[in-house]
Amino acid sequence: MPRWSHRQGSRLIFTDSRECSILRRVPTTSDLERMLRGAALRVTRPRLAVLCAVHEHPHADTDSIIRAVREDLGEVSHQAVYDVLRALTAASLVRRIQPAGSVARYEARVGDNHHHVVCRSCGAIADVDCAVGEAPCLTASENHGFAIEEAEVTYWAECAECVTSQHNPTAV
Ligand SMILES: [Zn+2]
Ligand SMILES: [Zn+2]
Repeated sequence: MPRWSHRQGSRLIFTDSRECSILRRVPTTSDLERMLRGAALRVTRPRLAVLCAVHEHPHADTDSIIRAVREDLGEVSHQAVYDVLRALTAASLVRRIQPAGSVARYEARVGDNHHHVVCRSCGAIADVDCAVGEAPCLTASENHGFAIEEAEVTYWAECAECVTSQHNPTAV
């Protein structure tokens, strides 16, 4: 179910993946411009390129985003991409996640309190819908008077490919 289909005017297309067909949203440039303006951010080419890269590469790390942006814009400094990522994250257009042991990663699926399953062996990451649908989705046994806002849930796992290669070590 395309949770993000409420976003204005974006196209939804189906793409094939190895395991299942996933619904992947590819916003047009005018969609991206609308998102920036909607967040009161001036539209600039680096911002468009970074936002586009995050949409196209869910859970990408900063280096991968820099590579994608350079394919798009040519030479652009690390610092410029870091600055844009920080601005987009602060504006809630992008969500930053950092599973333990991983570098920071970015995604464009924001505001739905989804969680992640992370492969302990290869670091692959996939989205897992929140079973409850909103934060905090785990009831704390004791809140100590704190106003609990969110539970950070990471499912640690072995991905299907790593399970297969461990069971068939010669089949790699
Ligand atoms: Zn794996
Ligand atoms: Zn995600």
